[in-house]
Amino acid sequence: MSHTYDHWINGAATPGESDRTGDVYDPALGSAARQVRLATAGDVDLAVAAAAEAFTTWSESSVVARSRVMFAFRELLVQHEDELAQLISAEHGKTLDDARGEVVRGREVVEFACGIAQLLKGEYNDQVSGGIDSHSFRQPLGVVAGITPFNFPIMVPLWMHPVAIACGNTFVLKPSERVPGASDLVARLYQQAGLPDGVFNVVHGDKVAVDRILEHPDVAAVSFVGSTPIARYVHEGASRTGKRVQALGGAKNHAVVMPDADLDFAADHIVAAGYGSAGQRCMAISAVVAVGPAADTLVDKIRERSVDLTVGPGTGEGVDMGPVVTRASRDRIVDYVGQGEDAGAKVVVDGREVTVEGHEEGFFVGPTLLDQVTTDMSVYTDEIFGPVLTVLRVPTLEAAIELINANPYGNGTAVFTSSGEVARTFQRKVTVGMIGINVPVPVPMAFHSFGGWKDSLFGDHHIHGPEGVRFYTQAKVVTTRWPHVAEESLAQLNFPTAQ
Ligand code: NAD
Repeated sequence: MSHTYDHWINGAATPGESDRTGDVYDPALGSAARQVRLATAGDVDLAVAAAAEAFTTWSESSVVARSRVMFAFRELLVQHEDELAQLISAEHGKTLDDARGEVVRGREVVEFACGIAQLLKGEYNDQVSGGIDSHSFRQPLGVVAGITPFNFPIMVPLWMHPVAIACGNTFVLKPSERVPGASDLVARLYQQAGLPDGVFNVVHGDKVAVDRILEHPDVAAVSFVGSTPIARYVHEGASRTGKRVQALGGAKNHAVVMPDADLDFAADHIVAAGYGSAGQRCMAISAVVAVGPAADTLVDKIRERSVDLTVGPGTGEGVDMGPVVTRASRDRIVDYVGQGEDAGAKVVVDGREVTVEGHEEGFFVGPTLLDQVTTDMSVYTDEIFGPVLTVLRVPTLEAAIELINANPYGNGTAVFTSSGEVARTFQRKVTVGMIGINVPVPVPMAFHSFGGWKDSLFGDHHIHGPEGVRFYTQAKVVTTRWPHVAEESLAQLNFPTAQ
């Protein structure tokens, strides 16, 4: 019997009431390795009820007590780094080193949350009027929910729950049903760290669970990360029921390469950013915009490096790139490459026929490089989410910026250049939320906030960092007077102004 992941509600594993389960694949073998429960609306209700009950005490706990749990949780994430990386690699397919990288980047949000006492400090004004002072402070929202994608099984949930919980909220996580293992372990580590039962809950599931979260009257806020159509759906659904919502969507990230760039450096970094995690990162570079006459040389340099990569199981020695997450995903990627070829793109490196010895049923696609791509081709207009780099050619920086700004997505972008003037113009003019100057994957550190523009984010707040603290709290401003007992009353009916 293969393992079945249960929900984690009120500090204990529970199968819930549903008889539906989903397969959790080992993408390198192409076979179902485990099962996961798929919740009913009633299962979500139980998790929300546990979180609501826990909120009454957790929101009253001291900020120091909350930060101590985060310190302990952080240590456990260090101790379990290898185990987490193994789990992620087994269910997602990414290489072990890549999985370790996501554990570390996620842990950095916990480190940020350890400083919650500093982050929640309010503001104070002495004597805003005669004998009157003002101060502001922030309080948690209540039960908040997170809905997360498959591609970062631990990092993306960690963008959310450490900040939310440190702020005094309680949390219901609905992770991707394709990669449930990391969240299951995280729930146990929180308990070991001393987090009271009910503060962090995991409900596994699909659309049924998501829809119940969106309509549940006791869920105060929803953080979502995933594809753009579902981000839009979650934003609309949660807004309709009056919740605060941040919904991060998909991406098409461009790397502009200027003629003055170091082309070897650019090619190295474009290959890493395009093919790392088999192209399944929301900040992956998928469109290379070659400016001016160096395009042929650049394509050649990318080709040389692409054909050198080793494709294999994520746990394999010396493997650069693992499989993609599902067979459907593999077939979809292969189909897009065919569409690009039919539309006139030149297939410079073709990963469609890649097979890996001993893993013939695995969901592998090799690095693929398409040149002479134009903005009307589906390989450019759609997010492929696989190891496919497309090269578009433009004559000037202005044309490159125009191309990026016409794209509906605005998650990340990068420019490779040795000119400060180019870099400054680029960062000021592109309509994109995260920009790299000679940095291909400009994911902000945990103490900044992560978020795109346009169809890559619905809602006002970016995620983690200072905007995360604002998202998970609401402000109060208090105006205080302590009249002297003998003071004569100065009450007036007109609108009060400072005296
Ligand atoms: P997805 O949108 O299919 O799934 C995300 C979550 O939504 C999952 O928990 C899933 O169970 C749920 N879901 C799926 N279909 C649903 C439906 N019809 N109704 C309600 N809920 C539904 O995304 P994915 O394939 O898991 O992840 C890849 C996508 O996520 C890519 O588009 C990628 O760009 C995006 N992503 C974005 C960011 C970012 O920060 N902007 C980060 C990581 C991933």
